[in-house]
Amino acid sequence: MERRGRTNDATRTVEIEPGFVRTADGSALISIGETRVICTASVTTDVPKWMAGRGSGWVTAEYGMLPASTGDRKKRDKGGKQDGRSVEIQRLIGRSLRCAIDMELLGERSVYVDCDVLQADGGTRCAAITGGYVALHLALQKLIDGGALEAMPLITSVAAISAGIVDGEALLDLEYVEDSQADVDANVVMTGDDGLVEVQATAERTPLSKASLDELLALSAKGIAELRLAQATAIGTELPGS
Ligand code: UDP
Repeated sequence: MERRGRTNDATRTVEIEPGFVRTADGSALISIGETRVICTASVTTDVPKWMAGRGSGWVTAEYGMLPASTGDRKKRDKGGKQDGRSVEIQRLIGRSLRCAIDMELLGERSVYVDCDVLQADGGTRCAAITGGYVALHLALQKLIDGGALEAMPLITSVAAISAGIVDGEALLDLEYVEDSQADVDANVVMTGDDGLVEVQATAERTPLSKASLDELLALSAKGIAELRLAQATAIGTELPGS
């Protein structure tokens, strides 16, 4: 696809800046092309009531778009009201991150991973998962360094990328103009050992064939392998389970 400026199987340029928010236990600014998301992880020493007394912890996520992150100013979520899209996305981020962690090793504490979109150009939920993992890892490393935790509760890493079919061609890492024309749009979340955590593949006009889904999954696995390298560089150690 000529107008793309990169090959169909290439991701946009990925950069992850660790420690972007100094006041957070762990943080990262992730940029993938023009999409930018600030991810922070904050640890508390309590767990939701329904989990108390079990000796295990909890990881949850919140997602939001800053007003100027989209072309037309997006209204802030006020008075506890959140749009359905944000709720769907933050549940996906939470589920994805919980797949990477041993809750018993975490102990009775909660980690809140907050993902705020600074600039949106497609793939914000995937960037939030990939950057959210880095923030979570750094927060847990800080607990270990401070002596509050003995061992790293992360058993694997997690990262996500989008892929889709535009004009009959399978493309990795859709930017907004591609996303808005896509016949099929997929978000793929994988662990460090290529385990599939979640595949959201939706056909807008043309139904998706099994062969096309396989093609999108193979493209995504390639992209996620690159994201893992960026995560490891940002964290400064090898990823768990790799
Ligand atoms: N978008 C927007 N305003 C919105 C929601 C989405 O401008 O309220 C744009 C934004 O660029 C976003 C893209 O549409 O990245 C694709 O949105 P989608 O819901 O597919 O989520 P994403 O791909 O960001 O995870």
